[in-house]
Amino acid sequence: MIEYEPVIGLEIHAQLLTATKIFCGCSAAFGAEPNTHICPVCLGLPGALPVLNRAAVDHAIRAALALGCTIHDRSIFARKNYFYPDLPKGYQISQYELPLATRGAVELTRDGQTRRVGITRVHLEEDAGKSLHEGFVDSDRKTYVDYNRSGVPLIEIVTEPDLRSAADAAEFFTRLRALLVWLGVNDGNMEEGSLRCDANVSVRPAGASALGTKAEVKNLNSFRFLEQALAYEIDRQIAELRDGGRIVQETRLWDSAAGRTISMRSKEEAHDYRYFPDPDLPAVAVDAARVRRIQSAMPELPDARRRRFVAAFGLPEYDASQLTQSPAVAEYFERTVAAGAPPKQAANWMMGELARALKDAGADAGSSPLGPAQLAGLIALVEKGTISGSIAKGVFETMFATGRSADDIVAAEGLTQISDESQIAALVADVLATHADAVAQYRAGKTTTFGFLVGQVMKAAGGKANPKRVNDLLKRALEP
Ligand code: ADP
Ligand code: ZN
Ligand code: MG
Repeated sequence: MIEYEPVIGLEIHAQLLTATKIFCGCSAAFGAEPNTHICPVCLGLPGALPVLNRAAVDHAIRAALALGCTIHDRSIFARKNYFYPDLPKGYQISQYELPLATRGAVELTRDGQTRRVGITRVHLEEDAGKSLHEGFVDSDRKTYVDYNRSGVPLIEIVTEPDLRSAADAAEFFTRLRALLVWLGVNDGNMEEGSLRCDANVSVRPAGASALGTKAEVKNLNSFRFLEQALAYEIDRQIAELRDGGRIVQETRLWDSAAGRTISMRSKEEAHDYRYFPDPDLPAVAVDAARVRRIQSAMPELPDARRRRFVAAFGLPEYDASQLTQSPAVAEYFERTVAAGAPPKQAANWMMGELARALKDAGADAGSSPLGPAQLAGLIALVEKGTISGSIAKGVFETMFATGRSADDIVAAEGLTQISDESQIAALVADVLATHADAVAQYRAGKTTTFGFLVGQVMKAAGGKANPKRVNDLLKRALEP
């Protein structure tokens, strides 16, 4: 039986985080009353002239540079003609022959394997409006259209057919989302449609170099749907070929309820769109100084920061990738270490107690009521042996809830760990006297009783005795 290999390329649409639309001054904000963010330009009324939004171009350049692309000093807006009710002009303004940026690449590491994923192009375009098929009393007969989204700035990112599994594709999309959010060019909100993915997939006999015929699965708006749709589509295509059939080039939709892809239409070709340069818009000129300026304002990217966390702080790979999920988390970590916390301890607290508390409070590292210096203060008390690890968890809760410092809470509540030998020895003596039975059992060889006695000493100490000292002194006292 022939083995088949999947080949996948993605086309991702990302809304650029700008205040206004790409060719007019209307608000680009999500969630307003329908048809309140509209004007003659984004409604495509006759005579209205588009004017390019500079901030959108800067964001697009920033994203393209982070994806390793070459920025072109001259790119062209074209009209992509098709009829659809959500497209009032009858064409979408998009870059076609001369896009803003081309030929980038990113490295994708999954399960210890690194793969290079080529970025074919990054181009600018406008979004269409939104057809509303549900939610009105007469929705069974009518479709409404909201043009607020019409003219919102997008970039389209097209990858080379370099991905080789559904899991690879989902991982790539996940990383790309994190990168765009990190750069501040996209809000990553997939439910609101700020980020959408079309997946192109074909299969070919393993080892073959020619590409098979592809199908395109449109509008996958979650990582899970992307992975499920691709897994289904790969199986479908392989089964079709093994049955002696052939794959037709077409556009398909993911039916998440049924768990399968369904044919939507045969694939349109570029010439169907009658692309031509938009006569209302001059070429987009981007000079080298502008590219340099944007490049030099680029933050350290997540991959680089992850590698630095491993190299400079000796963190395990896993911790480093957790702590570089967002700039706020990475910043918090570095500031905790700068305030004196040992890196691995800082990482443990952040990934454990802090992450949980933030999640419960609906906050994030950037808005944490407990700052890095305070966390470092708590960690220092544990490191010095002033408080035990279990007492520290309680102190953490109080710090998080009240904003007080660890020193303060430990002093006010008398939580300092008891390490003093004579104090602990006295507690041990008391416990041995009141639990003569247990002592006798222990001496008769029932060594499990030891744990019980430790527990009694800790209880007598209000949980504050240094556990190692308790163990040592108890052992000594029990020796015949
Ligand atoms: P189209 O002209 O049909 O839009 P493109 O060549 O522009 O096709 O490619 C669109 C996307 O499809 C890209 O992400 C590309 O990597 C991917 N792609 C192209 N050919 C194949 C193929 N045979 N199998 C899988 N993906 C493909
Ligand atoms: Zn407008
Ligand atoms: Mg194409």
